[in-house]
Amino acid sequence: MTIRIRDTWHLPDQKQAGRRIEKHSPTIRGLNITEKQRAIGAGKTYFISTYGCQANERDSENLSGILEACGFTAAADASEADVILMNTCGIRENASNNVLGEVGSHKKHFKARPDTIIGVCGCMVQEEHFTRTLLEKYPWVHLIFGTHNFAELPAYIERAMNGEKVVEVYSREGEIYEELPEHRQGRYKGLVNIMYGCDKFCTYCIVPYTRGRQRSREADAILDEVRTLKKLGYREITLLGQNVNAYGKDLEDAMDFAGLLEETAKTGIERVRFMTSHPWDFTEEMIDVISRYDNIMPCIHLPLQSGDDEILRRMGRRYTSAEYMNLFNTIRERVPGCSISTDIIVGFPGESDEAFEHTLDVVRECRFDNAFTFIFSPRPGTPAARMEDETEEKTKKERLFRLNALWNQLALENHQKYLGQTVQVLVDGPSKKNPNVFAGYSQHGMPVNFTGENIHEGDLVDVEITDVHTFSLNGRKVGE
Ligand code: SF4
Repeated sequence: MTIRIRDTWHLPDQKQAGRRIEKHSPTIRGLNITEKQRAIGAGKTYFISTYGCQANERDSENLSGILEACGFTAAADASEADVILMNTCGIRENASNNVLGEVGSHKKHFKARPDTIIGVCGCMVQEEHFTRTLLEKYPWVHLIFGTHNFAELPAYIERAMNGEKVVEVYSREGEIYEELPEHRQGRYKGLVNIMYGCDKFCTYCIVPYTRGRQRSREADAILDEVRTLKKLGYREITLLGQNVNAYGKDLEDAMDFAGLLEETAKTGIERVRFMTSHPWDFTEEMIDVISRYDNIMPCIHLPLQSGDDEILRRMGRRYTSAEYMNLFNTIRERVPGCSISTDIIVGFPGESDEAFEHTLDVVRECRFDNAFTFIFSPRPGTPAARMEDETEEKTKKERLFRLNALWNQLALENHQKYLGQTVQVLVDGPSKKNPNVFAGYSQHGMPVNFTGENIHEGDLVDVEITDVHTFSLNGRKVGE
């Protein structure tokens, strides 16, 4: 279908999105909402599907809060909702297929109830080819907006309710939003954004184009949010950013991430986690802070991506495998018992058999507790998507299979150390498979399934480990 581009639309422009010009990002406080917009959702419901990472989960908490500020209430299922939003992730190609599958499935809801507003937002619509596909092939989508303009959602909904097709995707460096309404998903575990966007431009990654330049929130606002969550009874918070270790580098006279982490620990909240770390910015001071505070969980996600120096150079990662190993070993020495997980890409353009073997060598040395492994997925508009790639898909799949077999085996061996140990678990609730078994996470970020009496969501429970697996631990509650 040929689309007629309307003057009122703002379409994504990835070239523009990759530019870095501004030195400072404006902070926008509160929600832009009129009295009329506060009532547009009265008697109506919304449903949000969230794809991708914790940053998207946090964004969906704000989207829910904004829709509720307009009077909407949450629907249990998309089929009964008046507004359906899909908050998308752009990291891999198969994510876009999943989103388009869901968009396709909503055609029947639109046919049954043509007043339903079906919207797609988030990272993926910041990609030119994806938004074009939405416009060409999915005419029942009437609302498309990107990662930079959540606070305008009430106006977009109002326009869509008046029959307008709304396309508002801005390719800009971005703002910092404070004091937006929110509907948090958890009552005991909270996500706290400390920064937005990224300036690292790893050659395979779409994030700097979809989420704009690195913008750190003021430390006071972050610490106030943590204290508020603590007062509300939250026991664990995760400090979120695309590269938390670079926190504060874009602010004048700001504390760095080690300082922020220490101040967060000093609030006394029971558990502090952080996500994600780039090895390049991981400082000695950070390791020192992690080792000194018991409420900072001994659990670090440290993306390796490749164990081959030439591939790391082509990825634009700015560390060598030796530097990664050095950091890894320092963390393991100074934070005893620290679990370390990683991300690895196989089949990056130019990855030879020998280069892949170098990755396996690092995995053998590190014995990661967990690994998220992927076949390279070219993202249009990134430098890596333009690199020559001669490796056959079959070879990439074989490499992924070998890598997974290796890290799985090593993780299982590694996890034997937990047998007979008592770990502390923050309880999420009954397990999905068996209501007599409870599930939660240990300090080390290990999923733990356990039995016992008098257990409730949000409890911190001592659990003796009786059985270990590659991805989880089993046990029983200790004491009363
Ligand atoms: S640091 Fe992370 S988010 Fe930033 S460009 Fe690299 S991979 Fe993407």
